[in-house]
Amino acid sequence: NSIKRSDIIHRLPPLPTIRDLIRLYKLRALKQLSQNFLMDERLTDKIVKAAGNIENKYVIEVGPGPGSITRSILRRRPNHLVVVEKDRRFIPTLQLLKESTFNVIELDIIRDDILKYNCENAFPTCKPKDWLDSPSTHIIGNLPFAISTRLLINWLKDMSLKRGAWIYGRTSLTLTFQLEVAQRIVAEIGSDQRCRLSLMSQFWAKPELKFIIPGSAFVPKPEVDVGVVTLNPLKLPSTDLPFDLVEKVMRYIFSMRQKYVRRGIQNLFPPKIRDDLTKRIFYEADIDSQSRSFQLSNEECLRLAQVYYNIIQEHPVIDSYNYRGPKEEREVWDDWDLNSMQ
Ligand code: SAM
Repeated sequence: NSIKRSDIIHRLPPLPTIRDLIRLYKLRALKQLSQNFLMDERLTDKIVKAAGNIENKYVIEVGPGPGSITRSILRRRPNHLVVVEKDRRFIPTLQLLKESTFNVIELDIIRDDILKYNCENAFPTCKPKDWLDSPSTHIIGNLPFAISTRLLINWLKDMSLKRGAWIYGRTSLTLTFQLEVAQRIVAEIGSDQRCRLSLMSQFWAKPELKFIIPGSAFVPKPEVDVGVVTLNPLKLPSTDLPFDLVEKVMRYIFSMRQKYVRRGIQNLFPPKIRDDLTKRIFYEADIDSQSRSFQLSNEECLRLAQVYYNIIQEHPVIDSYNYRGPKEEREVWDDWDLNSMQ
């Protein structure tokens, strides 16, 4: 094979023009699927640059669409690129791109829903790295906003369990979010934007808002600006507690943002034992129950999760209490107290 890896830069076919896109894919349909395309090469290059050095690395791109970010990735010559695209209409365009690499760079096109695709299968030849080593695997994507938040939570869970893309080591994420969500992900103590997503992202990763892309750079143009966020898994995660339990406690901590944090936390417990266990959780976590949720540090939030975990270890059934459950279910709990256990 006489084609060198460095030739790839000059051989990629041009992106379809905006007019091609509209003709091929129908603008209205694109809008319904919340597909917003980035056609500016400088911006797609900037996104890929935010992921760090990907030369000779293993990369998954989610939602390549017509392949603008894909081109920027290929120009940086990864060892192996896997693109996962749900919409079959983009497959021929991506296929052309694959042909232009003449297999000098391995490019796999997977037509699948990224919410179902198991990243564990992406790189059969990639040797898993030690968790403390710098990673050789990266995920990059400009996805519809609704999916990116859901995916982020799924991926943080995978990260916490070192499964999926994290069997390979500390796989980094470079993703686009609606700016407001990007700001929430990185929000620190005291910030108005602080929420469950901030804490969940920061317990297992180091999120950074790298730069902002104005909505006007996309076709069709979304209503909002977009933030490019990288999340690098922490060498030492902030907690060993189970992901779902931490997520639950964070949800309750932030459920009543304008009120004392006690008001949210108390709903974790059935009515008859609510006051006692609420007092216990704040006492043992050494936190003022009259703080507001956004005033709590990451460590303080985790201390609340730890005491809740201890309570659940003592009385596992309490974990199934749902204060917003159906009326009949809640009535069963009305008279429940710790003696009901004996
Ligand atoms: N990467 C392209 C760009 O930046 O121009 C396209 C971005 S567009 C916002 C999102 C892309 O993700 C679309 O191509 C869409 O078909 C694809 N997509 C949407 N949901 C998906 C899913 N669940 N799994 C895989 N791809 C998805």
